[in-house]
Amino acid sequence: IIRITALEKRFADNHVLRGIDLDVQKGDRIAILGSSGSGKSTLLRCLNFMEIPSAGQIELDGKAVGTPGKGPGGALARSYSQAELAAVRQRVGMVFQQFNLFGHMTVLGNVMEGPVTVLGLSREEARAKALLQLEKVGMAHKADAYPGRLSGGQQQRVAIARALAMEPEVLLFDEPTSSLDPELVSEVLTVIRDLASEGRTMLLVTHELGFAYHYASRVLFLADGQFYETGTPDEVLKHPQGERTQKFLERFT
Ligand code: ATP
Ligand code: MG
Repeated sequence: IIRITALEKRFADNHVLRGIDLDVQKGDRIAILGSSGSGKSTLLRCLNFMEIPSAGQIELDGKAVGTPGKGPGGALARSYSQAELAAVRQRVGMVFQQFNLFGHMTVLGNVMEGPVTVLGLSREEARAKALLQLEKVGMAHKADAYPGRLSGGQQQRVAIARALAMEPEVLLFDEPTSSLDPELVSEVLTVIRDLASEGRTMLLVTHELGFAYHYASRVLFLADGQFYETGTPDEVLKHPQGERTQKFLERFT
């Protein structure tokens, strides 16, 4: 579904991603690990073009996003039209650490918003679809509540329903449980686990190593802007070869 080739991202002098190559196949569940500041969020944000890559290429279903050679930064960079980026963001959905729900809209309104404005559904269609997604994450009973009145775990489940309502082909989760109180983590992980067992394609940045171990099909450890070590959960999490991977994992035991 996604092929990333020689992806780089710089913020001024800060060369965050330094050559990322990755093939994401349909049904892959990829866990991404790495220290704070290693560029995990930046990588996910590049994948749905909330950040524009400095160099390299991202293909969706074999078709490269953007036009080569015209962007800022010289010959390596690409240029992207707004319409193209909107289409990519629909296909590659994102769930954030801080939920990012619209506080002035109800739960239902939050989930309907994208389908109405981006997919062009009628309000009735969007409403029916939103309720279905809310049911799936166990939040239909809060459809008329405002996000501010919900627990973090509930807000995150609504955020997942909102992403699902856009019918994305790939879901990106950026530390979806790390701003939650410990007792709320499992309700969100349960929803993600259900999505995994449906065969959804997903990339998950997480520090929940147990979850990654059981549900990821592949684990990638990011360091110095590159994938330092990659493999099956058993290879990377239980038998890490690289010194940096070992050091990183030691902090969790
Ligand atoms: P964490 O585990 O803390 O979430 P991370 O691995 O997600 O860390 P990123 O948020 O991707 O790391 O940040 C990687 C580097 O890029 C950091 O040095 C950060 O300061 C820098 N950075 C990220 N976003 C921006 C931005 N919009 N402008 C400038 N620098 C940025
Ligand atoms: Mg991050």
